[in-house]
Amino acid sequence: MTETKNIYDFIIVGSGIGGLVSAALLGMEGHSVLVLEKNHQIGGSLQVFSRDKCVFDTGVHYIGSLDEGENLHQIFKYLGIISELNMMRLDDDAFDIIRFADGREYKHAQGYDKFQSQLISDFPDEENAIREFCAKVKEICDHFPLYNLESEDDSVNYVNNPEVLSINAWDYLGSITKNQRLRAVLLGNGVLYAGDRSTTPLYVVSLILNSYLNGSYRMINGGSQIARQLTKKIHTLGGKVLKHQDVCEAKYTGGNVSSVLTKNGEEYFGVNFISNVNPKRTIEMFGKDHFRAAYRNRLNKIKNTVSSFMLYLSFKEESFEYFNSNRYIYKIDDVWDTVDYSDAVWPETLYVCTPASTNQGKWAESMTVMAYMNYDEVAQWGESFNTVAVAGERGEEYEQFKKEKEEIVLKELEKTYPDIRKSIKGIYSSTPLTYKDYIGTDDGSLYGILKDSNNIMYSKINARTRVPNLYLTGQNIVFHGILGSTIGSLVTCFNFIDRKELIEKIKQA
Ligand SMILES: Cc1cc2nc3c(=O)[nH]c(=O)nc-3n(C[C@H](O)[C@H](O)[C@H](O)COP(=O)(O)OP(=O)(O)OC[C@H]3O[C@@H](n4cnc5c(N)ncnc54)[C@H](O)[C@@H]3O)c2cc1C
Repeated sequence: MTETKNIYDFIIVGSGIGGLVSAALLGMEGHSVLVLEKNHQIGGSLQVFSRDKCVFDTGVHYIGSLDEGENLHQIFKYLGIISELNMMRLDDDAFDIIRFADGREYKHAQGYDKFQSQLISDFPDEENAIREFCAKVKEICDHFPLYNLESEDDSVNYVNNPEVLSINAWDYLGSITKNQRLRAVLLGNGVLYAGDRSTTPLYVVSLILNSYLNGSYRMINGGSQIARQLTKKIHTLGGKVLKHQDVCEAKYTGGNVSSVLTKNGEEYFGVNFISNVNPKRTIEMFGKDHFRAAYRNRLNKIKNTVSSFMLYLSFKEESFEYFNSNRYIYKIDDVWDTVDYSDAVWPETLYVCTPASTNQGKWAESMTVMAYMNYDEVAQWGESFNTVAVAGERGEEYEQFKKEKEEIVLKELEKTYPDIRKSIKGIYSSTPLTYKDYIGTDDGSLYGILKDSNNIMYSKINARTRVPNLYLTGQNIVFHGILGSTIGSLVTCFNFIDRKELIEKIKQA
């Protein structure tokens, strides 16, 4: 049925964390909001799936800044969802473990003090470098006032200090220490941002590390609970979140968007529109002719971060011990030479975790493993489409490709967990095609647009567009991750809610 009478104050396309947080914030200000999601499940990268009674996250394995008083905790508190989340704090001494081919492991502890002192005991000759690195991380984060829930202070804000953004992380580390192993350890969780020596800016490393040092948590039974709680909040405010609504077109009146149309023939009318969808896809959806050619060309040329192959294992009962950490396993010491891999050595790095479940005890129910994978590897099946909402087949050859990759990753895992095969009940996997279809990107990119220290302004995406009543939100506005995308929602909503007032309300929550 076409909704001809209802004109929403805001129509939000996409129910990723950015879309849902924007809808909730605007709903809390008394606006009528409608979120349209193409999938069967809300949440974008917060979606989960289950196999052998185990719940697997597809795109969020741990979240930072969730200790009481930290920024994400405070924003979730303001949104009224923090007390509803079922989460588990990761190991205080080792939220991350960096492991090298020689079997040596290094732990990242939570909190700056512990993080520093533990690393200093591993690298006693490098105390100055470790302290300098941490001081620099904090200094860089100060250039992002919103990350401290402060209203913009123009003198420090990165917008007025663009040189902060172009410091290359690898080069910076090289300038403070000659110790290659320390450099590798400090940058060892680079899978969180697809760290690459020639492009990754130091601010990317800093924002991520700072957030995880301020409280790293795993969502028990999956991150989809965040999307569920936000949806509940939107509903209590009178808003709507509708699934199976694949937005494909927009109609305009006098240069403004007046409605969006979905593939199943629905039309929804609004005053303002916010797209939580990848900017390039947004332009296709809202009509190329409404955007400047220069903007379109820039978006077409912009590089995205790499994608990933995912291996999901379910375990036999009481056979594999749960570890309350994330493990980054490297085949080579040069941890940031792993994004541009060659087939012969793939995978050079693995991210491994054992998801937490209700009443988590000694034993893990499952394991999730990530290994970088370029979209090119699966491009031959790129025309296929397969989601729960729109089921399709990718063919036998693709299934064979996945099986081969599963086996390669398993062999690599056995170097760290020699008996792992004895524990395995079921083996499942996904490729960049899964992310392409579920999230709606061209290449299944992990974290959206690549931030490149050589050309920082190129990757900058404004929340405002040339269309007066169309705005963007999500991981490409400020930063990726649950925290980054939530901050992006604040930036989008500042177009409609007074910045200082909103920040104050969040702080007072
Ligand atoms: C494998 C992986 C691991 C990750 N690990 C972590 C982690 O451990 N911690 C962390 O903080 N972050 C992690 N991230 C990053 C984090 O998940 C993302 O940065 C964040 O969730 C992106 O949110 P978003 O608001 O940009 O929306 P997205 O999650 O990108 O969602 C966009 C939504 O738009 C919908 N959509 C697209 N097209 C249409 C259309 N035409 N009509 C209607 N709806 C549409 C999609 O279906 C989707 O629901 C990970 C990401 C991946 C992929």
